[in-house]
Amino acid sequence: MEAKNLTRNILIGMLLGVVLGSIFYSMDLAADNPIKVFLIDGLFDLGGSIFVISLKLLVVPLVFVSLACGASNLGGGSSMGRIGLKTLLLYLFTTAAAISLALLVATFVNPGEGINMANTSEFVAKESPSLKSVILNIFPNNPIQAMAEGNMLQVIVFAILVGISITKCGDAGQRVKGHLNDWNELIMRMVMMLMSVAPIGVFCLLISLFSNMGFTAIIDLFTYFITVVVVLFIHFSVTLALMIRFGAGLSPLAVIKRYSPVMAYAFSTSSSNATLPITLKTVEHKLGVKNEVASFTIPLGATINMDGTAIMQGVATVFIAQAFNVDIGMAGYLMVILTATLASIGTAGVPGVGLITLAMVLQQVGLPVEGIALIIGVDRLLDMLRTAVNVTGDATVSLIVARSEDKFDQEIFDKAG
Ligand code: ASP
Repeated sequence: MEAKNLTRNILIGMLLGVVLGSIFYSMDLAADNPIKVFLIDGLFDLGGSIFVISLKLLVVPLVFVSLACGASNLGGGSSMGRIGLKTLLLYLFTTAAAISLALLVATFVNPGEGINMANTSEFVAKESPSLKSVILNIFPNNPIQAMAEGNMLQVIVFAILVGISITKCGDAGQRVKGHLNDWNELIMRMVMMLMSVAPIGVFCLLISLFSNMGFTAIIDLFTYFITVVVVLFIHFSVTLALMIRFGAGLSPLAVIKRYSPVMAYAFSTSSSNATLPITLKTVEHKLGVKNEVASFTIPLGATINMDGTAIMQGVATVFIAQAFNVDIGMAGYLMVILTATLASIGTAGVPGVGLITLAMVLQQVGLPVEGIALIIGVDRLLDMLRTAVNVTGDATVSLIVARSEDKFDQEIFDKAG
């Protein structure tokens, strides 16, 4: 299917899924209604699940092969260190900017004022990881285990080591590199095959989700919900757009036009991780970022860069503080910026994890973790929106790094327009 038609069909699939799903929800179907049993919880749920499973199938092989190729082209040394440092700093910067904006808007809007805190006992916080274990967890002790568990940071470290070693062992290295390049092409082909059925996959995911998702919680939590949505929008259309314009010297509209299918996948799957194969493919083949940069920045971003999640955590912290009548003060806000930025590094790119790491932020500033129960009702929908922002932050940084390192292919970018 031609790329333009594919984008259009994905958007049609999304829209149909949301509209039909909402209609089914409003019909309030009984649990044994055949539409619910055979279509919503049967066929559509099955189709959506197969689609996400297939996306996930490609994540580990793609990241490993693509990054090993990329690292072997850079050959370790100073350019690799520079790219790594730039990427990390930019990711930290975008996340800190996102959360600062969230705190600013939330303290202005006061989303938690006048909230009745009944019913806060149902959320049981999972224990959040300590900083030491987050750092230790970057280093793999068994590459197969890291791959089997989908531990992306460890897979990234191993792939970089393989890539660097390739450059240091002459002919043997070149032979391995040749094989890896072939594998890279092969897996990219699999990504393309999967993309061609994406409109159906996205439709199935959204229709089964929206058939079961109520909107009444949004009415109760309207101010909180809208505040998160507005800050997500400002971060997307101002912060990231300015970075694309002045950091990468590209038109934000032109970038978003090429990147919109990735946002649609992120919205439909609520997972930066499951979206990763499509993100990588699009950033390389439509935005023109060369493999050496994309293969490092994109998997790393899907794992540690969560601007949208940080925004939710910022607004949620202010909301919970106000709902419980606690004043966390200026020092508290600075602490939130620091911990939410670190928490986003420890947040895996899968649905709903942002709420778990929110517990870590709340604990840091002495707020009751049970407060999470207040916002859980609207989190599924917010998760979809924030994941779309999360993956856009990754592409923004990737473009800036690529432009500054002369690893950007203008021809590919122009051709995809
Ligand atoms: N679902 C988000 C992601 O995958 C993480 C979160 O905020 O829960 O990017």
